[in-house]
Amino acid sequence: PVRVRFAPSPTGMFHVGGARSALFNWAVAKQQGGTFVLRIEDTDASRNQPEWVDGILSAMEALGIRKEDPAFEGPYFQSANAGIQKDAAQRLFAEGKAYYCDCTRDAVMARTGNQQTGYDGFCSARGLEYAEGRALRFRTPADGETKVVDLIRGTPTFPNKNLEDFVIARGNGSPVFLLANVVDDIDENITLVMRAEEHLPNTPKQQLLWEALGQTPPQWAHMPVIVNEKRQKLSKRRDKVALEDYLAEGVLPDAMVNYLMLLGWAPGNDEEILPFEELVRRFRVEDINSSSAFFDIKKLTAFNGEYIRALSVPEFTEACGPWLHAPRAPWSEEQFDSKVFDAVAPLAHSRVALLSEITNNVDFLFLDEPVIDEDSWNKAMKAGAAELLADVRVAFADVAWEAEVLKDTVTTAGEAHGMKLGKAQAPVRVAVTGRRIGLPLFESLEVLGRERTLTRIDAAQA
Ligand code: GLU
Repeated sequence: PVRVRFAPSPTGMFHVGGARSALFNWAVAKQQGGTFVLRIEDTDASRNQPEWVDGILSAMEALGIRKEDPAFEGPYFQSANAGIQKDAAQRLFAEGKAYYCDCTRDAVMARTGNQQTGYDGFCSARGLEYAEGRALRFRTPADGETKVVDLIRGTPTFPNKNLEDFVIARGNGSPVFLLANVVDDIDENITLVMRAEEHLPNTPKQQLLWEALGQTPPQWAHMPVIVNEKRQKLSKRRDKVALEDYLAEGVLPDAMVNYLMLLGWAPGNDEEILPFEELVRRFRVEDINSSSAFFDIKKLTAFNGEYIRALSVPEFTEACGPWLHAPRAPWSEEQFDSKVFDAVAPLAHSRVALLSEITNNVDFLFLDEPVIDEDSWNKAMKAGAAELLADVRVAFADVAWEAEVLKDTVTTAGEAHGMKLGKAQAPVRVAVTGRRIGLPLFESLEVLGRERTLTRIDAAQA
Protein backbone atom coordinates (compact mmCIF):
# COMPACT_ATOMS: atom_id res chain seq x y z
CA PRO A 1 0.00 0.00 0.00
CA VAL A 2 0.98 3.56 -0.68
CA ARG A 3 3.11 5.47 1.81
CA VAL A 4 3.00 9.24 1.50
CA ARG A 5 4.42 11.93 3.69
CA PHE A 6 4.00 15.54 4.62
CA ALA A 7 7.33 17.11 5.51
CA PRO A 8 6.94 20.66 6.78
CA SER A 9 9.85 22.77 7.94
CA PRO A 10 8.72 24.47 11.12
CA THR A 11 8.24 28.22 10.79
CA GLY A 12 6.30 30.60 12.96
CA MET A 13 3.02 29.87 11.19
CA PHE A 14 1.27 27.19 9.19
CA HIS A 15 0.88 28.15 5.52
CA VAL A 16 -2.37 27.32 3.70
CA GLY A 17 -0.21 25.79 0.94
CA GLY A 18 1.19 23.39 3.52
CA ALA A 19 -2.35 22.62 4.61
CA ARG A 20 -3.28 21.77 1.02
CA SER A 21 -0.19 19.50 0.72
CA ALA A 22 -1.07 17.74 3.94
CA LEU A 23 -4.68 17.19 2.88
CA PHE A 24 -3.89 15.86 -0.60
CA ASN A 25 -1.44 13.39 0.93
CA TRP A 26 -3.91 12.46 3.63
CA ALA A 27 -6.61 11.90 1.00
CA VAL A 28 -4.36 9.47 -0.89
CA ALA A 29 -3.48 7.54 2.26
CA LYS A 30 -7.10 7.32 3.41
CA GLN A 31 -8.44 6.34 0.02
CA GLN A 32 -5.90 3.62 -0.64
CA GLY A 33 -5.64 2.21 2.86
CA GLY A 34 -2.08 3.49 2.95
CA THR A 35 0.00 5.43 5.43
CA PHE A 36 0.54 9.14 5.92
CA VAL A 37 3.85 9.97 7.54
CA LEU A 38 4.33 13.31 9.26
CA ARG A 39 7.96 14.28 9.21
CA ILE A 40 9.15 17.52 10.72
CA GLU A 41 12.14 18.84 8.78
CA ASP A 42 13.79 20.52 11.69
CA THR A 43 17.42 20.54 10.59
CA ASP A 44 17.80 24.30 10.56
CA ALA A 45 18.50 24.30 14.28
CA SER A 46 19.06 28.05 14.46
CA ARG A 47 15.52 28.76 13.36
CA ASN A 48 13.48 26.04 15.00
CA GLN A 49 11.55 26.62 18.14
CA PRO A 50 9.68 23.89 19.98
CA GLU A 51 6.36 25.77 19.91
CA TRP A 52 6.49 25.77 16.10
CA VAL A 53 6.19 21.99 16.19
CA ASP A 54 3.12 22.34 18.41
CA GLY A 55 1.72 24.69 15.77
CA ILE A 56 2.12 21.98 13.13
CA LEU A 57 0.47 19.37 15.33
CA SER A 58 -2.50 21.57 16.12
CA ALA A 59 -2.87 22.48 12.44
CA MET A 60 -3.02 18.74 11.65
CA GLU A 61 -5.73 18.39 14.28
CA ALA A 62 -7.73 21.29 12.80
CA LEU A 63 -7.50 19.68 9.36
CA GLY A 64 -8.85 16.42 10.75
CA ILE A 65 -5.53 14.61 10.36
CA ARG A 66 -5.50 12.79 13.67
CA LYS A 67 -2.60 11.08 15.33
CA GLU A 68 -4.97 8.38 16.56
CA ASP A 69 -5.98 7.43 13.02
CA PRO A 70 -4.43 4.11 11.93
CA ALA A 71 -3.35 5.77 8.66
CA PHE A 72 -1.20 8.25 10.59
CA GLU A 73 2.45 7.59 11.38
CA GLY A 74 4.86 9.88 13.19
CA PRO A 75 5.75 12.53 13.80
CA TYR A 76 9.32 11.78 12.87
CA PHE A 77 12.01 14.40 13.13
CA GLN A 78 14.59 14.91 10.44
CA SER A 79 17.17 15.87 13.05
CA ALA A 80 16.86 12.43 14.65
CA ASN A 81 18.08 10.86 11.41
CA ALA A 82 21.36 12.79 11.29
CA GLY A 83 23.34 9.57 11.84
CA ILE A 84 21.94 7.64 8.88
CA GLN A 85 22.12 10.75 6.71
CA LYS A 86 25.84 11.02 7.42
CA ASP A 87 26.27 7.30 6.80
CA ALA A 88 24.61 7.68 3.42
CA ALA A 89 26.98 10.53 2.54
CA GLN A 90 29.95 8.39 3.57
CA ARG A 91 28.73 5.47 1.49
CA LEU A 92 28.43 7.67 -1.58
CA PHE A 93 31.98 8.87 -0.98
CA ALA A 94 33.33 5.35 -0.42
CA GLU A 95 31.72 4.19 -3.65
CA GLY A 96 33.23 7.07 -5.61
CA LYS A 97 29.83 8.65 -6.17
CA ALA A 98 30.78 11.76 -4.26
CA TYR A 99 34.00 13.71 -3.74
CA TYR A 100 35.39 16.31 -1.39
CA CYS A 101 35.84 19.84 -2.59
CA ASP A 102 37.68 22.79 -1.09
CA CYS A 103 36.81 25.38 -3.72
CA THR A 104 35.65 28.72 -2.47
CA ARG A 105 32.86 30.47 -4.25
CA ASP A 106 35.29 33.12 -5.41
CA ALA A 107 37.62 30.53 -6.90
CA VAL A 108 34.76 28.98 -8.88
CA MET A 109 33.67 32.41 -10.04
CA ALA A 110 37.22 33.31 -11.11
CA ARG A 111 37.58 30.09 -13.13
CA THR A 112 34.22 30.31 -14.81
CA GLY A 113 34.34 34.03 -15.49
CA ASN A 114 31.22 34.52 -13.38
CA GLN A 115 29.23 33.03 -16.23
CA GLN A 116 28.24 29.73 -14.78
CA THR A 117 26.11 29.58 -11.69
CA GLY A 118 26.80 25.91 -11.06
CA TYR A 119 29.97 24.18 -9.88
CA ASP A 120 32.57 23.47 -12.58
CA GLY A 121 33.77 20.07 -11.33
CA PHE A 122 37.26 21.27 -10.50
CA CYS A 123 37.77 18.86 -7.56
CA SER A 124 36.10 15.92 -9.25
CA ALA A 125 39.39 14.16 -10.08
CA ARG A 126 41.59 15.51 -7.26
CA GLY A 127 40.89 12.66 -4.86
CA LEU A 128 40.69 14.87 -1.76
CA GLU A 129 40.06 13.20 1.58
CA TYR A 130 37.76 14.61 4.22
CA ALA A 131 39.06 17.59 6.13
CA GLU A 132 37.26 20.23 8.14
CA GLY A 133 35.82 22.79 5.73
CA ARG A 134 35.65 20.48 2.71
CA ALA A 135 32.18 20.00 1.27
CA LEU A 136 31.09 16.68 -0.17
CA ARG A 137 29.71 16.90 -3.70
CA PHE A 138 27.61 14.35 -5.53
CA ARG A 139 28.94 13.38 -8.95
CA THR A 140 26.13 13.89 -11.47
CA PRO A 141 26.33 12.22 -14.87
CA ALA A 142 28.00 14.37 -17.53
CA ASP A 143 25.76 13.37 -20.41
CA GLY A 144 22.30 12.10 -21.05
CA GLU A 145 19.24 13.27 -19.24
CA THR A 146 17.27 12.59 -16.10
CA LYS A 147 13.58 11.96 -16.60
CA VAL A 148 11.23 12.51 -13.72
CA VAL A 149 7.94 10.70 -14.04
CA ASP A 150 5.39 12.97 -12.41
CA LEU A 151 1.77 11.90 -11.96
CA ILE A 152 0.59 15.46 -12.58
CA ARG A 153 3.13 16.84 -15.06
CA GLY A 154 4.03 14.01 -17.41
CA THR A 155 7.76 13.50 -17.73
CA PRO A 156 9.78 16.64 -17.03
CA THR A 157 13.22 15.93 -18.50
CA PHE A 158 16.46 17.51 -17.27
CA PRO A 159 19.67 17.41 -19.34
CA ASN A 160 22.40 16.13 -17.01
CA LYS A 161 24.87 18.72 -18.22
CA ASN A 162 22.71 21.30 -16.43
CA LEU A 163 22.85 19.38 -13.17
CA GLU A 164 25.96 20.55 -11.34
CA ASP A 165 27.86 18.32 -8.93
CA PHE A 166 25.85 19.51 -5.97
CA VAL A 167 26.78 19.59 -2.30
CA ILE A 168 25.34 16.81 -0.13
CA ALA A 169 27.29 17.50 3.08
CA ARG A 170 28.69 20.78 4.35
CA GLY A 171 32.25 21.54 5.41
CA ASN A 172 31.32 20.63 8.99
CA GLY A 173 30.02 17.24 7.85
CA SER A 174 26.33 17.98 8.25
CA PRO A 175 24.06 16.72 5.45
CA VAL A 176 22.15 19.29 3.39
CA PHE A 177 18.40 19.30 2.71
CA LEU A 178 18.60 17.52 -0.65
CA LEU A 179 20.27 14.48 0.89
CA ALA A 180 18.54 14.48 4.28
CA ASN A 181 15.14 14.62 2.58
CA VAL A 182 15.98 11.59 0.38
CA VAL A 183 17.54 9.54 3.18
CA ASP A 184 14.46 10.14 5.32
CA ASP A 185 12.09 9.22 2.50
CA ILE A 186 14.03 5.99 1.98
CA ASP A 187 14.09 5.29 5.71
CA GLU A 188 10.35 5.83 5.96
CA ASN A 189 9.65 3.67 2.88
CA ILE A 190 7.89 6.48 1.06
CA THR A 191 6.40 5.36 -2.26
CA LEU A 192 4.83 8.60 -3.46
CA VAL A 193 6.34 12.05 -2.92
CA MET A 194 3.61 14.61 -3.44
CA ARG A 195 4.85 18.10 -2.72
CA ALA A 196 4.83 21.70 -3.89
CA GLU A 197 5.87 22.56 -7.43
CA GLU A 198 8.71 24.73 -6.16
CA HIS A 199 10.62 21.54 -5.35
CA LEU A 200 10.53 20.25 -8.93
CA PRO A 201 14.03 21.61 -9.73
CA ASN A 202 15.35 19.47 -6.85
CA THR A 203 13.71 16.33 -8.12
CA PRO A 204 16.21 15.21 -10.80
CA LYS A 205 19.03 15.59 -8.25
CA GLN A 206 17.08 13.69 -5.64
CA GLN A 207 16.13 10.96 -8.07
CA LEU A 208 19.84 10.50 -8.85
CA LEU A 209 20.49 10.20 -5.11
CA TRP A 210 17.81 7.52 -4.72
CA GLU A 211 19.45 5.54 -7.51
CA ALA A 212 22.97 6.09 -6.20
CA LEU A 213 21.82 4.77 -2.82
CA GLY A 214 20.58 1.62 -4.55
CA GLN A 215 16.89 2.38 -4.28
CA THR A 216 14.02 2.56 -6.74
CA PRO A 217 12.85 6.18 -6.76
CA PRO A 218 9.31 6.90 -5.56
CA GLN A 219 6.51 8.21 -7.71
CA TRP A 220 6.53 11.97 -7.86
CA ALA A 221 3.69 14.48 -7.99
CA HIS A 222 4.30 18.23 -7.86
CA MET A 223 1.24 20.22 -6.86
CA PRO A 224 0.53 23.57 -8.52
CA VAL A 225 1.57 26.89 -7.06
CA ILE A 226 -1.12 28.81 -5.15
CA VAL A 227 -1.59 32.41 -6.31
CA ASN A 228 -3.47 35.53 -5.19
CA GLU A 229 -5.95 37.56 -7.26
CA LYS A 230 -3.04 39.21 -9.09
CA ARG A 231 -1.71 35.77 -10.05
CA GLN A 232 1.28 36.25 -7.74
CA LYS A 233 2.51 33.33 -5.70
CA LEU A 234 1.00 33.59 -2.21
CA SER A 235 3.58 35.08 0.10
CA LYS A 236 3.50 35.73 3.78
CA ARG A 237 4.71 39.30 3.32
CA ARG A 238 1.90 40.20 0.96
CA ASP A 239 -1.00 37.85 1.56
CA LYS A 240 -2.86 36.31 4.41
CA VAL A 241 -1.40 32.81 4.34
CA ALA A 242 -1.53 31.48 7.89
CA LEU A 243 -4.11 28.75 8.45
CA GLU A 244 -4.50 29.94 12.05
CA ASP A 245 -5.47 33.44 10.85
CA TYR A 246 -8.37 32.06 8.84
CA LEU A 247 -9.52 29.89 11.73
CA ALA A 248 -9.22 32.83 14.14
CA GLU A 249 -11.48 34.81 11.84
CA GLY A 250 -14.14 32.18 12.09
CA VAL A 251 -13.66 29.98 9.08
CA LEU A 252 -14.96 26.59 10.17
CA PRO A 253 -12.32 23.86 9.91
CA ASP A 254 -14.60 21.72 7.73
CA ALA A 255 -15.16 24.60 5.31
CA MET A 256 -11.43 25.25 5.18
CA VAL A 257 -10.68 21.60 4.48
CA ASN A 258 -13.30 21.47 1.73
CA TYR A 259 -11.98 24.67 0.16
CA LEU A 260 -8.33 23.59 0.32
CA MET A 261 -9.17 20.27 -1.35
CA LEU A 262 -10.32 22.26 -4.38
CA LEU A 263 -7.04 24.16 -4.80
CA GLY A 264 -5.85 22.51 -7.96
CA TRP A 265 -8.32 19.65 -7.99
CA ALA A 266 -12.06 19.27 -8.56
CA PRO A 267 -14.34 16.39 -7.59
CA GLY A 268 -16.26 16.61 -10.90
CA ASN A 269 -19.95 17.13 -11.82
CA ASP A 270 -19.49 20.81 -10.92
CA GLU A 271 -19.91 19.78 -7.31
CA GLU A 272 -17.85 21.62 -4.76
CA ILE A 273 -19.34 21.38 -1.31
CA LEU A 274 -18.95 17.79 -0.29
CA PRO A 275 -18.09 15.93 2.91
CA PHE A 276 -14.42 15.02 3.27
CA GLU A 277 -15.14 11.29 2.93
CA GLU A 278 -16.72 11.92 -0.45
CA LEU A 279 -13.82 14.09 -1.58
CA VAL A 280 -11.46 11.31 -0.54
CA ARG A 281 -13.49 8.77 -2.49
CA ARG A 282 -13.25 10.83 -5.68
CA PHE A 283 -9.66 12.07 -5.29
CA ARG A 284 -7.21 11.18 -8.05
CA VAL A 285 -3.66 12.52 -8.08
CA GLU A 286 -3.66 12.28 -11.89
CA ASP A 287 -6.55 14.76 -11.99
CA ILE A 288 -4.69 17.48 -10.12
CA ASN A 289 -4.21 20.49 -12.35
CA SER A 290 -0.70 21.49 -13.31
CA SER A 291 -1.52 25.19 -13.67
CA SER A 292 -1.59 27.54 -10.72
CA ALA A 293 -4.50 27.54 -8.28
CA PHE A 294 -6.18 30.80 -7.25
CA PHE A 295 -6.71 31.22 -3.51
CA ASP A 296 -10.04 33.04 -3.66
CA ILE A 297 -10.88 34.45 -0.25
CA LYS A 298 -14.36 35.50 -1.40
CA LYS A 299 -15.12 31.98 -2.46
CA LEU A 300 -13.74 30.60 0.79
CA THR A 301 -15.98 33.01 2.70
CA ALA A 302 -19.02 32.00 0.66
CA PHE A 303 -18.21 28.33 1.32
CA ASN A 304 -17.98 29.11 4.99
CA GLY A 305 -21.39 30.77 4.94
CA GLU A 306 -22.83 27.58 3.50
CA TYR A 307 -21.11 25.47 6.14
CA ILE A 308 -22.47 27.77 8.85
CA ARG A 309 -26.01 27.45 7.44
CA ALA A 310 -25.63 23.67 7.52
CA LEU A 311 -25.11 23.75 11.30
CA SER A 312 -28.07 23.53 13.66
CA VAL A 313 -28.63 26.65 15.73
CA PRO A 314 -27.19 25.03 18.88
CA GLU A 315 -24.13 23.95 16.89
CA PHE A 316 -23.82 27.47 15.55
CA THR A 317 -24.02 28.89 19.07
CA GLU A 318 -21.34 26.53 20.21
CA ALA A 319 -19.10 27.43 17.26
CA CYS A 320 -19.53 31.11 18.13
CA GLY A 321 -18.29 30.42 21.66
CA PRO A 322 -14.79 31.85 21.29
CA TRP A 323 -16.20 35.13 19.93
CA LEU A 324 -18.69 35.48 22.76
CA HIS A 325 -16.15 35.53 25.56
CA ALA A 326 -12.84 37.11 26.48
CA PRO A 327 -10.39 37.74 24.97
CA ARG A 328 -12.18 38.05 21.63
CA ALA A 329 -15.44 39.57 22.83
CA PRO A 330 -15.50 43.33 23.55
CA TRP A 331 -17.91 42.82 26.46
CA SER A 332 -17.30 41.38 29.90
CA GLU A 333 -18.66 38.14 31.34
CA GLU A 334 -21.05 40.21 33.52
CA GLN A 335 -22.41 41.99 30.46
CA PHE A 336 -22.88 38.78 28.50
CA ASP A 337 -26.16 36.91 28.81
CA SER A 338 -26.43 33.56 27.06
CA LYS A 339 -30.24 33.66 27.07
CA VAL A 340 -30.15 36.94 25.19
CA PHE A 341 -27.71 35.44 22.73
CA ASP A 342 -29.92 32.38 22.27
CA ALA A 343 -32.83 34.65 21.42
CA VAL A 344 -30.98 36.21 18.46
CA ALA A 345 -28.85 33.22 17.46
CA PRO A 346 -31.33 32.05 14.76
CA LEU A 347 -31.30 35.54 13.22
CA ALA A 348 -27.50 35.69 13.17
CA HIS A 349 -27.16 32.12 11.99
CA SER A 350 -28.78 32.91 8.66
CA ARG A 351 -26.62 35.98 8.09
CA VAL A 352 -22.96 35.63 9.01
CA ALA A 353 -20.35 34.23 6.64
CA LEU A 354 -17.52 34.28 9.18
CA LEU A 355 -18.02 33.50 12.84
CA SER A 356 -16.06 36.63 13.77
CA GLU A 357 -18.88 38.71 12.26
CA ILE A 358 -21.03 37.69 15.21
CA THR A 359 -19.40 40.31 17.41
CA ASN A 360 -20.57 43.36 15.46
CA ASN A 361 -23.99 41.82 15.03
CA VAL A 362 -24.75 41.35 18.71
CA ASP A 363 -22.52 43.78 20.60
CA PHE A 364 -25.42 46.25 21.05
CA LEU A 365 -27.14 43.66 23.22
CA PHE A 366 -24.29 43.35 25.70
CA LEU A 367 -22.43 46.64 25.78
CA ASP A 368 -23.92 49.37 27.96
CA GLU A 369 -23.94 51.74 25.03
CA PRO A 370 -23.89 50.98 21.31
CA VAL A 371 -20.67 51.48 19.40
CA ILE A 372 -21.68 54.23 17.01
CA ASP A 373 -20.34 53.83 13.51
CA GLU A 374 -19.80 57.36 12.27
CA ASP A 375 -20.52 56.68 8.64
CA SER A 376 -23.79 54.94 9.54
CA TRP A 377 -24.73 57.84 11.78
CA ASN A 378 -24.12 60.45 9.08
CA LYS A 379 -26.14 58.54 6.54
CA ALA A 380 -29.08 57.80 8.83
CA MET A 381 -29.41 61.09 10.70
CA LYS A 382 -30.50 63.19 7.73
CA ALA A 383 -33.30 65.74 7.49
CA GLY A 384 -36.43 64.57 9.27
CA ALA A 385 -34.61 61.94 11.33
CA ALA A 386 -34.77 63.90 14.58
CA GLU A 387 -38.52 64.53 14.27
CA LEU A 388 -39.14 60.91 13.40
CA LEU A 389 -37.10 59.69 16.37
CA ALA A 390 -39.04 61.99 18.67
CA ASP A 391 -42.34 60.50 17.51
CA VAL A 392 -41.04 56.95 17.75
CA ARG A 393 -39.76 57.66 21.25
CA VAL A 394 -43.21 58.77 22.39
CA ALA A 395 -44.99 55.85 20.75
CA PHE A 396 -42.49 53.24 21.99
CA ALA A 397 -43.11 54.34 25.57
CA ASP A 398 -46.41 52.49 25.77
CA VAL A 399 -46.94 50.06 22.89
CA ALA A 400 -46.87 46.33 23.48
CA TRP A 401 -43.19 45.29 23.26
CA GLU A 402 -43.41 42.85 20.37
CA ALA A 403 -41.56 42.91 17.06
CA GLU A 404 -44.73 43.17 14.94
CA VAL A 405 -46.14 46.05 16.98
CA LEU A 406 -42.82 47.88 16.96
CA LYS A 407 -42.67 47.54 13.20
CA ASP A 408 -46.19 48.94 12.80
CA THR A 409 -45.27 51.80 15.12
CA VAL A 410 -42.24 52.81 13.05
CA THR A 411 -44.24 52.37 9.83
CA THR A 412 -46.91 54.76 11.11
CA ALA A 413 -44.37 57.30 12.36
CA GLY A 414 -42.60 57.13 8.99
CA GLU A 415 -45.80 57.78 7.08
CA ALA A 416 -46.37 60.94 9.13
CA HIS A 417 -42.99 62.19 7.90
CA GLY A 418 -43.29 60.96 4.33
CA MET A 419 -40.79 58.13 4.82
CA LYS A 420 -41.09 54.51 3.75
CA LEU A 421 -40.28 51.91 6.40
CA GLY A 422 -36.81 51.26 4.98
CA LYS A 423 -35.88 54.88 5.44
CA ALA A 424 -37.71 55.38 8.71
CA GLN A 425 -36.05 52.48 10.47
CA ALA A 426 -32.50 53.67 9.68
CA PRO A 427 -32.26 56.35 12.42
CA VAL A 428 -33.87 53.97 14.92
CA ARG A 429 -31.39 51.26 14.04
CA VAL A 430 -28.36 53.53 14.28
CA ALA A 431 -29.55 55.05 17.56
CA VAL A 432 -30.03 51.63 19.12
CA THR A 433 -27.40 49.37 17.52
CA GLY A 434 -24.85 51.92 16.31
CA ARG A 435 -24.82 50.56 12.76
CA ARG A 436 -26.91 50.73 9.62
CA ILE A 437 -26.59 47.05 8.88
CA GLY A 438 -27.36 44.23 11.25
CA LEU A 439 -29.87 41.71 12.43
CA PRO A 440 -33.58 42.29 11.70
CA LEU A 441 -34.33 45.42 13.66
CA PHE A 442 -37.68 44.77 15.31
CA GLU A 443 -36.77 41.34 16.60
CA SER A 444 -33.56 42.89 17.92
CA LEU A 445 -35.50 45.62 19.75
CA GLU A 446 -37.82 43.07 21.25
CA VAL A 447 -34.81 41.22 22.69
CA LEU A 448 -33.09 44.40 23.85
CA GLY A 449 -36.18 45.52 25.78
CA ARG A 450 -38.10 48.73 26.10
CA GLU A 451 -36.05 50.42 28.74
CA ARG A 452 -32.68 50.13 27.01
CA THR A 453 -34.20 51.05 23.64
CA LEU A 454 -35.70 54.25 25.03
CA THR A 455 -32.46 55.21 26.78
CA ARG A 456 -30.58 54.89 23.50
CA ILE A 457 -33.09 56.90 21.52
CA ASP A 458 -32.85 59.61 24.18
CA ALA A 459 -29.08 59.56 23.95
CA ALA A 460 -29.23 59.88 20.16
CA GLN A 461 -31.49 62.89 20.46
CA ALA A 462 -29.37 64.65 23.03
N1 GLU B 1 10.50 20.66 4.15
C1 GLU B 1 10.18 20.95 2.78
C2 GLU B 1 9.30 22.17 2.74
O1 GLU B 1 8.81 22.59 3.73
C3 GLU B 1 9.42 19.81 2.16
C4 GLU B 1 10.17 19.13 1.10
C5 GLU B 1 9.43 17.95 0.50
O2 GLU B 1 8.21 17.85 0.65
O3 GLU B 1 10.10 17.13 -0.07
O4 GLU B 1 9.10 22.74 1.71
